[in-house]
Amino acid sequence: MANRNWRPQTALVHGGTLRSHHGETSEAIYLTQGYVYESAESAEARFKGDEPGFIYSRYANPTVDMFEKRMCALEGAEDARATASGMAAVSAALLCSVKAGDHVVSARALFGSCRWIIETLMPKYGIETTLVDGTKMDQWQNAVRPNTRLFFLESPTNPTLEVVDIAAVASIANSIGARVVVDNVFATPLQQKPLELGAHVVVYSATKHIDGQGRCLGGVILSDKEWIDKNLHDYFRHTGPSLSPFNAWTLLKGLETLPLRVRQQTESAGRIADWLAEHSGISRVIYPGRKDHPQADIVARQMKGGSTLVCLDTRGGKKAAFALSNALEIVKISNNLGDAKSLITHPATTTHKNLTDEARAELGIGPGTLRLSVGLEDVDDLIEDLDRALKAAA
Ligand SMILES: *Cc1c(COP(=O)(O)O)cnc(C)c1O
Repeated sequence: MANRNWRPQTALVHGGTLRSHHGETSEAIYLTQGYVYESAESAEARFKGDEPGFIYSRYANPTVDMFEKRMCALEGAEDARATASGMAAVSAALLCSVKAGDHVVSARALFGSCRWIIETLMPKYGIETTLVDGTKMDQWQNAVRPNTRLFFLESPTNPTLEVVDIAAVASIANSIGARVVVDNVFATPLQQKPLELGAHVVVYSATKHIDGQGRCLGGVILSDKEWIDKNLHDYFRHTGPSLSPFNAWTLLKGLETLPLRVRQQTESAGRIADWLAEHSGISRVIYPGRKDHPQADIVARQMKGGSTLVCLDTRGGKKAAFALSNALEIVKISNNLGDAKSLITHPATTTHKNLTDEARAELGIGPGTLRLSVGLEDVDDLIEDLDRALKAAA
């Protein structure tokens, strides 16, 4: 029941539905590892690929299949593979794109575990890697070597919401026949469409906005069918990063309300960013959608809306940042994001603690930097919470 012409809000409610003979309204949870065959001949045909149907849930499962198809309808991708976590999606997308002796160019502003794969894991297997300032096109161009096969980036970045020009990076990659993988978690599939901008593969941590209610981990890789068949199919069968059917069902339910949540959270985040920018206790606010965003022109070109996240710097460094976080009542201290609950994190001591001081400074993460993920609470309550906490911290 995948219809490519549906608008996102319709695709997210109906896309990919596989209804059983019972005609259930809500998607069924197929909690099964395996499948039985009518006959030995049927088992043989299914293994040969001559008969459609499921074989084993490490390969495919009907509930997981519905989630993958619904994500394809939303993203406008030909095919998808769901994974047990966002990192399973990122690692599979990256590792299946290269082999020993290849070279990877990546933006340096990355989610911590993504940076570990590029900086530590890939070189261990003989894959050369170079980190660049993703916002500088000459750095991407100059990093290219004869063996460059893959570009990787995240936009907006974590936590300073830097925006990379995806079309420009894709054009450099296409000129040398390299592929571009984009981690689109911060933008969400509603605000930014990397495939339309020329990227080849999109990855998500579905743990974030797609679940959006803090319940389960999940991930997904989207690309063209040929690349997935050729590069991911066997890897998934034999290494087993599969998503649990129960989690796939939770994520399917999350997709139904994704546009409502992202729209509301983005609107609230925009209001909070504007309010913080006027506050004397705050020295810097970074928000895609504000005119003073460092890449405001690219935001206007490649994103349909702002972000559900706000990056801010408190005057008074770590002490002020901790005091503010501790004084908040509604906003909770947590490193998750995209959740119905507003969450605040101090990147320097948590998500980005493994970087050197120098690497953190390069990314614009200071001792007073905080990342605020805006939830579904009433925005006036959130502003009052911030106002009270800023006064208490002063
Ligand atoms: C959270 C996150 C990941 C990893 O996802 P998990 O579901 O936690 O494994 C990867 N990239 C970005 C940008 C993230 O925010």
